[in-house]
Amino acid sequence: MINLKSPGEIDKMRVAGRVVAEVLNILQDQIRPGISTGKLNAIAEEEANKRNALAVFKNYPNPRGSRPFPGAICASVNEEVVHGIPGIRLLQEGDIISIDFGVIVDGFAGDAAITVAVGEVEPQIKKLIRVTEEALMKGIEQARVGNRLGNISHTIQTYAESAGFSIVRDFVGHGIGRKMHEDPPVPNYGKPDRGPTLQAGMALAIEPMVNLGAYGVYTKGDEWTVVTKDGKHSAHFEHSIVIGEQGPEILTLL
Ligand code: MG
Repeated sequence: MINLKSPGEIDKMRVAGRVVAEVLNILQDQIRPGISTGKLNAIAEEEANKRNALAVFKNYPNPRGSRPFPGAICASVNEEVVHGIPGIRLLQEGDIISIDFGVIVDGFAGDAAITVAVGEVEPQIKKLIRVTEEALMKGIEQARVGNRLGNISHTIQTYAESAGFSIVRDFVGHGIGRKMHEDPPVPNYGKPDRGPTLQAGMALAIEPMVNLGAYGVYTKGDEWTVVTKDGKHSAHFEHSIVIGEQGPEILTLL
């Protein structure tokens, strides 16, 4: 069942979304060669605490294993797609890092992700990052009353594929509200004019994961880190949005 949000609930989601945007902005400024993913995680936890926000990925139960997620952020480097575990790894010049961060504030969730180049990266990798963010924004433009969910999915897929990249199938976006993950699932691929009809008050986390090579991925032995099968780079951008009568409102944008 898709849960429509009331104006009061949307106000609370704006607060949660703003916290996510602020923390990601702080992390983005810290990304440089030599910083560890664990240090970025510590900064995220501290900044969430300052804002009375619960970093909700921490201790998130594992649907495919037994080990809850140990970090406040997902930190996925290069061929890591999503759910990378922050730790002692030091970022190096030429890496890319995707950071996914979610909070609950006053009973409502916000969720967003960015991919950032560490220093100078190859032109093709730079293009991958740019196209992934553009695909997200093109998808968000489709989040309008009367459109179908498949219009979001199809727009993201065609945009990323027309740039020569591929869309991850095994992980998708989601509804968001009192919980981080609600109905409906929001795939980043599929046919237009299919799926639920979009209504005012729907809140969605839209999050394309785009691969430089083929779309296949697998989960490593740590039960969390998802990597590309071909070892090529992957990028990830996400915003939480709410659909209004006049169009989509991005909740996780400063
Ligand atoms: Mg999400």
